[in-house]
Amino acid sequence: MDYPSFAYAPNGELWWKLTRTPGKESAYGDERKIAAYLASTKKVGDLVTTRELREQLAPNPETPNTNEHLQRRLRSLRGERDGWLIASKKDDRSLPPEHYRIDKIGWHPGLGDRPPNRQVVSAKTRALVLTRDGSRCQVCGVGDGEPYPENSDRKAVMTVGHIISQHFGGGNDRGNLRTECALCNEQMRSEGTKPESVEEVWSAVRSLSTPNLRRLNEWLAQGRRTRDALDETYDRIRKLRPDDTARVKQDLAKLLGLGPND
Ligand SMILES: [Zn+2]
Repeated sequence: MDYPSFAYAPNGELWWKLTRTPGKESAYGDERKIAAYLASTKKVGDLVTTRELREQLAPNPETPNTNEHLQRRLRSLRGERDGWLIASKKDDRSLPPEHYRIDKIGWHPGLGDRPPNRQVVSAKTRALVLTRDGSRCQVCGVGDGEPYPENSDRKAVMTVGHIISQHFGGGNDRGNLRTECALCNEQMRSEGTKPESVEEVWSAVRSLSTPNLRRLNEWLAQGRRTRDALDETYDRIRKLRPDDTARVKQDLAKLLGLGPND
Protein backbone atom coordinates (compact mmCIF):
# COMPACT_ATOMS: atom_id res chain seq x y z
CA MET A 1 0.00 0.00 0.00
CA ASP A 2 1.14 3.54 -0.78
CA TYR A 3 1.01 5.93 2.11
CA PRO A 4 1.12 9.72 1.97
CA SER A 5 4.44 11.28 2.97
CA PHE A 6 3.01 12.46 6.31
CA ALA A 7 2.57 8.79 7.29
CA TYR A 8 6.34 8.54 7.83
CA ALA A 9 8.30 9.66 10.90
CA PRO A 10 11.61 11.49 10.31
CA ASN A 11 13.47 8.14 10.64
CA GLY A 12 11.52 6.78 7.65
CA GLU A 13 9.32 4.41 9.64
CA LEU A 14 5.55 4.61 9.64
CA TRP A 15 4.43 6.56 12.74
CA TRP A 16 2.16 3.73 13.89
CA LYS A 17 4.98 1.19 13.69
CA LEU A 18 7.13 3.11 16.19
CA THR A 19 7.49 1.57 19.60
CA ARG A 20 9.68 4.33 21.11
CA THR A 21 9.32 8.09 20.87
CA PRO A 22 11.99 9.29 18.40
CA GLY A 23 15.10 10.28 20.35
CA LYS A 24 13.64 9.15 23.69
CA GLU A 25 13.37 6.08 25.87
CA SER A 26 9.62 6.36 26.41
CA ALA A 27 7.02 4.32 24.53
CA TYR A 28 5.46 6.10 21.57
CA GLY A 29 1.89 6.96 22.58
CA ASP A 30 -1.00 4.91 21.20
CA GLU A 31 -3.15 8.00 20.61
CA ARG A 32 -0.45 9.35 18.30
CA LYS A 33 -0.14 6.02 16.52
CA ILE A 34 -3.92 5.73 16.05
CA ALA A 35 -4.13 9.32 14.76
CA ALA A 36 -1.32 8.69 12.27
CA TYR A 37 -2.79 5.39 11.12
CA LEU A 38 -6.30 6.77 10.61
CA ALA A 39 -5.14 9.99 8.90
CA SER A 40 -2.92 7.99 6.52
CA THR A 41 -5.30 5.16 5.63
CA LYS A 42 -8.88 6.44 6.06
CA LYS A 43 -11.11 9.11 4.65
CA VAL A 44 -14.16 10.69 6.24
CA GLY A 45 -16.96 8.13 6.42
CA ASP A 46 -14.62 5.11 6.64
CA LEU A 47 -14.87 2.58 9.46
CA VAL A 48 -12.17 1.20 11.71
CA THR A 49 -12.34 -1.65 14.21
CA THR A 50 -10.34 -2.17 17.37
CA ARG A 51 -9.17 -5.45 15.88
CA GLU A 52 -7.71 -3.64 12.86
CA LEU A 53 -5.90 -1.22 15.17
CA ARG A 54 -4.50 -4.08 17.22
CA GLU A 55 -3.17 -5.72 14.07
CA GLN A 56 -1.73 -2.54 12.58
CA LEU A 57 -0.26 -0.64 15.52
CA ALA A 58 3.17 -1.54 16.81
CA PRO A 59 2.64 -3.23 20.17
CA ASN A 60 3.00 -0.87 23.08
CA PRO A 61 5.80 -2.10 25.38
CA GLU A 62 4.08 -0.53 28.39
CA THR A 63 0.37 -1.24 27.88
CA PRO A 64 -1.29 -4.26 26.28
CA ASN A 65 -3.43 -3.27 23.29
CA THR A 66 -6.67 -4.63 24.71
CA ASN A 67 -10.01 -3.60 23.22
CA GLU A 68 -10.74 -1.43 26.25
CA HIS A 69 -7.39 0.30 26.01
CA LEU A 70 -7.80 1.03 22.28
CA GLN A 71 -11.37 2.24 22.79
CA ARG A 72 -10.19 4.67 25.46
CA ARG A 73 -7.41 5.96 23.20
CA LEU A 74 -9.86 6.41 20.32
CA ARG A 75 -12.24 8.30 22.60
CA SER A 76 -9.54 10.64 23.85
CA LEU A 77 -8.73 11.69 20.27
CA ARG A 78 -12.22 13.11 20.03
CA GLY A 79 -12.82 16.58 21.29
CA GLU A 80 -11.16 19.94 21.48
CA ARG A 81 -7.54 18.98 21.86
CA ASP A 82 -7.08 16.86 18.74
CA GLY A 83 -10.28 17.72 16.88
CA TRP A 84 -11.25 14.24 15.69
CA LEU A 85 -14.89 13.25 15.31
CA ILE A 86 -15.20 9.49 15.70
CA ALA A 87 -18.65 7.93 16.00
CA SER A 88 -19.21 4.77 18.02
CA LYS A 89 -22.29 2.62 18.50
CA LYS A 90 -23.31 5.05 21.24
CA ASP A 91 -23.52 7.89 18.71
CA ASP A 92 -24.95 5.88 15.83
CA ARG A 93 -26.87 2.71 16.64
CA SER A 94 -26.48 1.40 13.10
CA LEU A 95 -22.76 0.82 13.73
CA PRO A 96 -21.84 -2.77 14.62
CA PRO A 97 -20.02 -3.39 17.93
CA GLU A 98 -16.30 -2.51 17.91
CA HIS A 99 -16.77 -0.45 14.74
CA TYR A 100 -15.96 3.24 14.67
CA ARG A 101 -16.68 5.71 11.90
CA ILE A 102 -14.33 8.59 11.10
CA ASP A 103 -16.45 11.74 10.76
CA LYS A 104 -13.65 14.26 10.89
CA ILE A 105 -9.90 13.91 10.69
CA GLY A 106 -8.06 15.90 13.34
CA TRP A 107 -4.49 16.30 14.53
CA HIS A 108 -1.97 13.59 13.61
CA PRO A 109 1.85 13.41 14.01
CA GLY A 110 2.48 14.35 10.35
CA LEU A 111 1.14 17.83 11.17
CA GLY A 112 3.85 18.56 13.76
CA ASP A 113 3.59 19.08 17.51
CA ARG A 114 0.43 17.90 19.19
CA PRO A 115 -1.74 20.72 20.59
CA PRO A 116 -1.12 21.28 24.32
CA ASN A 117 -3.34 19.41 26.74
CA ARG A 118 -6.07 21.63 28.08
CA GLN A 119 -5.87 21.32 31.80
CA VAL A 120 -8.71 22.37 34.00
CA VAL A 121 -8.41 25.41 36.21
CA SER A 122 -8.37 24.32 39.86
CA ALA A 123 -11.29 25.23 42.12
CA LYS A 124 -8.95 27.32 44.27
CA THR A 125 -7.69 29.38 41.30
CA ARG A 126 -11.26 29.90 40.06
CA ALA A 127 -12.33 31.22 43.46
CA LEU A 128 -9.32 33.59 43.61
CA VAL A 129 -10.05 34.97 40.13
CA LEU A 130 -13.75 35.49 40.91
CA THR A 131 -12.91 37.34 44.14
CA ARG A 132 -10.25 39.47 42.46
CA ASP A 133 -12.72 40.52 39.75
CA GLY A 134 -15.57 41.14 42.19
CA SER A 135 -17.62 38.36 40.49
CA ARG A 136 -18.19 40.69 37.59
CA CYS A 137 -17.79 39.84 33.90
CA GLN A 138 -14.58 41.51 32.71
CA VAL A 139 -15.89 41.58 29.14
CA CYS A 140 -19.38 43.12 29.36
CA GLY A 141 -19.42 44.28 32.99
CA VAL A 142 -22.50 42.39 34.21
CA GLY A 143 -22.35 41.21 37.85
CA ASP A 144 -23.02 37.68 39.11
CA GLY A 145 -26.78 37.04 39.33
CA GLU A 146 -27.68 40.38 37.73
CA PRO A 147 -30.13 40.49 34.83
CA TYR A 148 -28.64 41.49 31.46
CA PRO A 149 -29.61 45.08 30.61
CA GLU A 150 -30.73 44.01 27.11
CA ASN A 151 -32.50 40.84 28.25
CA SER A 152 -33.78 41.03 31.82
CA ASP A 153 -35.15 37.46 31.68
CA ARG A 154 -31.65 36.05 31.70
CA LYS A 155 -29.55 36.33 34.84
CA ALA A 156 -25.78 36.35 34.46
CA VAL A 157 -23.80 33.32 35.62
CA MET A 158 -20.05 33.76 36.09
CA THR A 159 -17.35 31.49 34.80
CA VAL A 160 -13.57 31.81 34.49
CA GLY A 161 -12.12 32.20 31.00
CA HIS A 162 -8.68 32.58 29.41
CA ILE A 163 -7.42 35.96 28.18
CA ILE A 164 -5.07 34.27 25.70
CA SER A 165 -6.87 31.08 24.74
CA GLN A 166 -5.19 27.74 25.35
CA HIS A 167 -5.40 27.23 21.60
CA PHE A 168 -2.76 29.97 21.27
CA GLY A 169 -0.68 28.67 24.15
CA GLY A 170 -2.27 30.68 26.99
CA GLY A 171 -1.74 29.14 30.44
CA ASN A 172 -3.87 28.50 33.50
CA ASP A 173 -2.08 31.05 35.68
CA ARG A 174 -4.12 33.76 37.35
CA GLY A 175 -2.60 36.44 35.13
CA ASN A 176 -4.18 34.78 32.09
CA LEU A 177 -7.58 34.20 33.68
CA ARG A 178 -10.51 36.51 34.14
CA THR A 179 -14.13 36.38 35.21
CA GLU A 180 -16.52 36.12 32.25
CA CYS A 181 -20.27 35.70 32.20
CA ALA A 182 -21.50 32.56 30.44
CA LEU A 183 -22.73 34.63 27.47
CA CYS A 184 -19.41 36.42 26.85
CA ASN A 185 -17.51 33.17 27.47
CA GLU A 186 -19.52 31.44 24.72
CA GLN A 187 -18.86 34.31 22.33
CA MET A 188 -15.14 34.34 23.07
CA ARG A 189 -15.04 30.61 22.42
CA SER A 190 -16.84 30.75 19.10
CA GLU A 191 -14.86 33.80 17.99
CA GLY A 192 -11.67 32.03 19.00
CA THR A 193 -12.18 29.39 16.34
CA LYS A 194 -12.01 31.81 13.40
CA PRO A 195 -9.55 34.58 14.21
CA GLU A 196 -9.94 37.84 12.34
CA SER A 197 -7.08 39.46 10.52
CA VAL A 198 -5.11 42.09 12.40
CA GLU A 199 -5.84 44.57 9.58
CA GLU A 200 -9.61 44.25 10.11
CA VAL A 201 -9.26 44.70 13.85
CA TRP A 202 -6.84 47.61 13.49
CA SER A 203 -9.23 49.45 11.20
CA ALA A 204 -11.92 49.07 13.90
CA VAL A 205 -9.44 50.43 16.46
CA ARG A 206 -8.70 53.44 14.25
CA SER A 207 -12.37 54.36 14.08
CA LEU A 208 -12.75 54.68 17.89
CA SER A 209 -12.97 58.05 19.60
CA THR A 210 -9.95 59.31 21.59
CA PRO A 211 -11.56 58.65 25.01
CA ASN A 212 -12.34 55.09 23.88
CA LEU A 213 -8.80 54.64 22.56
CA ARG A 214 -7.52 55.60 26.04
CA ARG A 215 -9.83 53.07 27.71
CA LEU A 216 -8.83 50.39 25.23
CA ASN A 217 -5.18 51.14 25.91
CA GLU A 218 -5.79 50.76 29.65
CA TRP A 219 -7.61 47.45 29.20
CA LEU A 220 -4.84 46.05 27.03
CA ALA A 221 -2.22 47.22 29.54
CA GLN A 222 -4.08 45.53 32.40
CA GLY A 223 -4.87 42.41 30.37
CA ARG A 224 -8.56 42.73 31.19
CA ARG A 225 -11.39 45.15 31.01
CA THR A 226 -11.18 47.71 33.78
CA ARG A 227 -14.24 49.57 35.03
CA ASP A 228 -14.24 53.31 34.96
CA ALA A 229 -16.42 55.96 36.62
CA LEU A 230 -19.02 55.55 33.86
CA ASP A 231 -19.41 51.80 34.50
CA GLU A 232 -19.62 52.35 38.25
CA THR A 233 -22.25 55.07 37.85
CA TYR A 234 -24.29 52.87 35.51
CA ASP A 235 -24.26 50.07 38.11
CA ARG A 236 -25.30 52.46 40.88
CA ILE A 237 -28.22 53.70 38.79
CA ARG A 238 -29.33 50.12 38.05
CA LYS A 239 -29.29 49.31 41.74
CA LEU A 240 -31.74 52.15 42.55
CA ARG A 241 -35.44 51.47 43.07
CA PRO A 242 -37.22 51.35 39.66
CA ASP A 243 -38.96 54.72 40.14
CA ASP A 244 -35.65 56.33 41.10
CA THR A 245 -33.97 54.79 38.04
CA ALA A 246 -36.76 56.26 35.89
CA ARG A 247 -36.17 59.65 37.48
CA VAL A 248 -32.43 59.61 36.77
CA LYS A 249 -33.21 58.56 33.19
CA GLN A 250 -35.59 61.49 32.78
CA ASP A 251 -33.23 64.03 34.37
CA LEU A 252 -30.35 62.84 32.22
CA ALA A 253 -32.40 63.25 29.05
CA LYS A 254 -33.29 66.76 30.20
CA LEU A 255 -29.64 67.50 30.95
CA LEU A 256 -28.76 66.48 27.39
CA GLY A 257 -31.63 68.52 25.98
CA LEU A 258 -33.40 65.42 24.62
CA GLY A 259 -37.13 64.79 24.59
CA PRO A 260 -38.52 61.97 26.77
CA ASN A 261 -38.62 59.60 23.77
CA ASP A 262 -35.25 60.37 22.20
ZN1 LIG B 1 -20.27 39.26 29.97
